[in-house]
Amino acid sequence: MSFRFCPQCARPLIVARFGDRDRLGCDDPSCGFVHWDNPVPVVAAIVEHEGKIILARNAAWPPHSYALITGFLERSETPEIGVQREVEEELGLVPQGVNFVGLYEFHRMNQLLIAYHVPATGTVRLNEELVDWKHVPFDQARYWPAGTGFALRDWLQNVHGIEAQPAEWAKP
Ligand SMILES: [Zn+2]
Repeated sequence: MSFRFCPQCARPLIVARFGDRDRLGCDDPSCGFVHWDNPVPVVAAIVEHEGKIILARNAAWPPHSYALITGFLERSETPEIGVQREVEEELGLVPQGVNFVGLYEFHRMNQLLIAYHVPATGTVRLNEELVDWKHVPFDQARYWPAGTGFALRDWLQNVHGIEAQPAEWAKP
């Protein structure tokens, strides 16, 4: 997110030395607003359903681009609860618990990904954020060279001993 005006006093923001680096901030010291631009935590789910992985395509992504289920946390929500809520909301499935996979940086989006394996049951019903989904057998999954793709690669390697191959994948 970028700001042009101070959200506290509405003056234009300037780039100046705040802390140890140049950042956007208010030029009025009595206001003191600094846009720290810290990474935002995002939960990601490797959904296991009927013995396969579910990958889904967001409405905003190009055709043939499928990835993990992701979402932002609500205030006071734990990542474990948040990732299960996202699976329920976006796929209409019933989560059966979570297994932590790892933390992954996603610098391009200024996000810190908290990745879980989420076994789930039920019938897939996509919400409006998603336009398509597919079942992928573990040994046919390819990983994309970005945050959630590395989570999938590591989970396949560490839990199933499967060496996934990289895939071409472009998300705008
Ligand atoms: Zn200000």
